[in-house]
Amino acid sequence: MERSERAALVTGGGRGIGRAVCLALATRGMNVAINYTTSATAAQKVADECQALGVEAITIQGDVTDSADCEGLAVTTKDAFGRIDVLVNNAGIVKDGLLVRLGEKDFDDVIDTNLKGAFLCMRAVARTMMRQRFGRIINMGSVVGLHGNIGQANYAASKAGLIGLSKTAAKELAARGITVNVVAPGFIGTDMTATLPDAVRKQVLEQIPVGRLGDADEVARAVAFFADDASAYLTGQVLCVDGGMAI
Ligand code: NDP
Repeated sequence: MERSERAALVTGGGRGIGRAVCLALATRGMNVAINYTTSATAAQKVADECQALGVEAITIQGDVTDSADCEGLAVTTKDAFGRIDVLVNNAGIVKDGLLVRLGEKDFDDVIDTNLKGAFLCMRAVARTMMRQRFGRIINMGSVVGLHGNIGQANYAASKAGLIGLSKTAAKELAARGITVNVVAPGFIGTDMTATLPDAVRKQVLEQIPVGRLGDADEVARAVAFFADDASAYLTGQVLCVDGGMAI
């Protein structure tokens, strides 16, 4: 594939799906800014792996729930690479609990990270992308945001909200050459799903026609598609990468 001088910012890029996204974009010749909150060593390892692929890579510490940190992510990325072509809002958390027992803080924390964090990062990069008249924003949703899931009222609300946020941004930014799309994974084998009890894992597998958990690379390839010129006429879309779970 031809090398480009494009630059991407990936939130939560140090591990899991975010790591796979960084590597997929680097493989396609993009310079990558890897954001992390706590996983500094892991993020540096991803940066090293990206550099080994022949691109530039930096790591940036920052909490996506903090608007000053999000502005900092945008400024540092722009300073390092001269532009911000791609933003992947991947950072996300779960704090599960049945509705009747779900604590207010657990509700707020999940909304703040998964939904408000994406808004703050989009707002932080939007002006640069508008000036460039080019941008690709990819927000990491979930099939749970489309269908709900027992024990995940906060998470489902955050991911459903992300779809409304993305569709609105898609309409507002389209005329400036910026697309905004959502990749909605099903169950993917990462730290987030590693703690699922065996009984729940068995139940989950029964809901997946393909019969297995997804791989982070399979999600990353969908992100890379939305980051690519091949998807220039696609905006405001939700692409489920779920082994048929949401059919
Ligand atoms: P992991 O738990 O493996 O990784 C979460 C990532 O988010 C870490 O890199 C973490 O950084 C980062 N993060 C968490 N909070 C913040 C914050 N406040 N600011 C910046 N970064 C933060 O999750 P996955 O890789 O599994 O998930 C990635 C995304 O995909 C999430 O949005 C998740 O909701 C979504 N998803 C995952 C599915 C799955 O089955 N795994 C299914 C559907 C959607 P650090 O380590 O530095 O704290």
